[in-house]
Order: sequence, then C-alpha cells, then structure tokens
Amino acid sequence: MNILILGGGGREHALAWAIRQNPKCDRLIVAPGNPGIGAVAECADLDIMSRAAVCEFAQENAIDLVVVGPEAPLAAGVADALRAAGLLVFGPSQAAAQLEASKAFTKEICDACGAPTAAWARFDAAADAHVYVDAQGAPIVVKADGLAAGKGVVVAETLEQAHEAIDMIFGGAFGASGAEVVIEEFMEGEEASFFILSDGVNCLPIGTAQDHKRVGERDTGPNTGGMGAYSPAPVLTDAIQAQVMEQMIRPTVAEMARRGTPFQGVIFAGLMIKDGQARLVEYNVRFGDPECQVLMMRLGAQALDLIHACAEGRLDQIAANWAEDHALTVVMATEGYPGDYAKGSRIKGLDDLPEDSFNMIFHAGTAMKDGGLVASGGRVLAATGRGDTLTQARERAYALVNGVDWPEGFYRRDIGWRAL
Ligand code: ATP
Repeated sequence: MNILILGGGGREHALAWAIRQNPKCDRLIVAPGNPGIGAVAECADLDIMSRAAVCEFAQENAIDLVVVGPEAPLAAGVADALRAAGLLVFGPSQAAAQLEASKAFTKEICDACGAPTAAWARFDAAADAHVYVDAQGAPIVVKADGLAAGKGVVVAETLEQAHEAIDMIFGGAFGASGAEVVIEEFMEGEEASFFILSDGVNCLPIGTAQDHKRVGERDTGPNTGGMGAYSPAPVLTDAIQAQVMEQMIRPTVAEMARRGTPFQGVIFAGLMIKDGQARLVEYNVRFGDPECQVLMMRLGAQALDLIHACAEGRLDQIAANWAEDHALTVVMATEGYPGDYAKGSRIKGLDDLPEDSFNMIFHAGTAMKDGGLVASGGRVLAATGRGDTLTQARERAYALVNGVDWPEGFYRRDIGWRAL
C-alpha cells in the first residue's frame, strides 16, 4: 500500500513511525514532513491546504490511502476533494469537521443527541453576551466559536474577565473565528482525552491519554500546545469509557449520520471527569499532539490496520489489541515558548540515543541547517518512552531527554505527576 500522510509535526512523525512498521506499507510519503520523519518516510514539499495540489500529488504518486494529520486541511475540505477524486482517505469531510471547527455546532449536536456537556448559549453580538454573563455569574467560560489554535477560550474567574473576553473576541482578535461567541457553564473536575475511530457507522475506542497544557511545572503558567502526555489515563476507568461510548460517542456518530454528514476518522473527545461521570469539553477531529505520540508508541504497526479499516468502513471487523503497557512523552521546547523564541539553535546528541519500540524521539519543529539539526519552532522534540509501568515509561522518556544536547531547550520535569 502506498500511503501519504499530510502534516509535519510530532503527531505525523509518530503516525509515520507506527505505519512504517506494518509490512503492508510500501511507499510512505509525508508532506511536508520534517528531518525526523525523513528517517522513516519520504518527505514531499506540498501545499496541504490546496485541495487541487493534494489530489494531483496523490494521483501522480499512486497513493492508496491518505492520512490527514492536522485539523486545518480537514476544515478546508481536503478530505472531500480527495474522496471526490476517488481516493481512500482517513479523516472527516468538511461538514463533519465542524465538530471541531465550530463550538456552537458541537453543542447543538450534544443537545440533539443528549450527550452530557456544560450548559451553554451562543451570541452574535456583544450586548446580549454581556447581559447573559451578568445573569449567570462567574466563574464562566467564554469561547470564540471557530478555530483559534487553542487561544480562543477564556476561563473567566471573574465577571470582569468574562466581559473583557467578550469584547476581545467581538473586537476581532480571532477574525472570522470570533464572529460568534459561545458562553458555557464552568465545569469542575479532572480533564482527560479519549480517542475513538468512527467509520461513519461503527465506533472503536483506541485509547486514553492525559496531556499537560500549561508551560510550567505543577500546571502553572500560560497554555501551550501541550508539554507532555501519557497513556493510558487511569482517571478514565472502564466504567467511564463505557458511559462515554453509550451517552456521547455512539449518539454523536448516529446524529451525524442522521444529518447526512457521517463522521469518518478519529474522534478526540476532551472530557471533564467528576464523581465518576464524564461530560464533554470539546471534540477534535484529528489526533492530539502530543497524545498521538503515546498512542502510536502503544499501538505500533497495528495503527495502519485500524486506520485502513476505518477509511474502508469496516471497523466492525477489527479490534485494537492492547498490551498492558504504558507510554509517556516529554515535549522539549525552545526557551521562551509559548511567547517569543529564537529559531536556529543547534541540537546535538540524537544519533547516540536508542530508537526502538520502547524509546523514541519524535520531531516537531526541527530543520536541517549546514548539515546539522536545528530548532525551527516552539515545540521541537517529543521524547517518548514505553514500558510495563508508567514509572518505567517515564524513566525511559527522561533518559532520552537527558541524552539531548540542546542548551536552548527546556522541558517540564513533572510529566505524569497526576497518575504517579
Ligand atoms: P481553540 O478553539 O482556541 O483551539 P480549544 O479547542 O482548545 O481552543 P476547548 O478545548 O474548548 O478549546 O477549551 C480549552 C480548555 O479550556 C479546555 O481544555 C479546558 O481546560 C478549558 N475549558 C473549556 N471549556 C470549559 C468548561 N466549560 N469548563 C471548564 N473548563 C473549560
């Protein structure tokens, strides 16, 4: 099978690494890829937001399966265009990607199918939104409706912060993504992520994880794209997973099909857990980064069989074979991230580190310069360990971190603290 993966971050490196291990994988191309991905796949220079360019490339290269990594091409309809051109794709249509691209859409789906989530209201003008938050009180959560790269959500502890957030979003801070505002009840609890494949009809859970959004140890400081993750997430017990499948995932998938926009791809459910019950915080329509790194580390080669079955609509004929293992990933970022940071610092030592099914450094923002590896982004490496216990996985991940010679990088020393 010839496979094309769209994307070039740590998530796509992990996908490529797992897929490459499957003997069914012949040619593997990742666009645009990165230097780490270049060790397991061919990297191609391609505008992954251009439907025409992606279709043409896939046809020219006799691609049998396209795996879309990030949300932006999905929300732009790249999967629709590929399907229309007769190609097999893993990833939802533009209409189904609304589950991530519009928070109000997701809330409507929840209301229509009875999925438990926070009480909410939507507004297209500031005045009514201000009146609403005054009536509700704080804490309260104010969100730009559309995609805002994780920055469009304000958890307001005071009414003043809520009013400021409304003005900021309607003031144009997120462009068209802020044309509508969703205001939600503040939910207390512990957050965890649940990943489920759906082929439009059938659903198959493929794992749980917990990430670390804040830049600082003990979850302090500003939000980031994610500073580390581990899988499984013990807070998502078998009973809670069963509850989420019955009350949330199956009803959502059925509602999407009923509307004529079946969801095919991975559902990444962000959950809030309290008193043994889960409520939905958000859906994403692609793998998380860095959650994908720990999921792929645990799934290994079977990731391709699962993704392929999902794309072909035969998830009812396949099961995920889980080992009793654990994986943990530590993100190494450039000093200054998530604020301003310098690009181009030299990274050394990677060649001397183990690369196997227990130890792997996935690349995100790296580039080659003058024959050496340099940092080219905020989040740069994801040092990932797998083991029989979370402690062992953690020791392996931090042993990799310690082997990296990169004075301009930093990382959190407490990844996994909640579970350990
Ligand atoms: P963006 O749309 O900007 O990319 P996002 O998709 O990450 O952001 P959400 O996941 O909806 O946005 O919210 C981000 C974070 O805010 C959540 O991970 C959670 O910690 C917090 N949050 C969101 N909604 C609520 C809520 N109703 N109650 C409590 N916390 C919430």
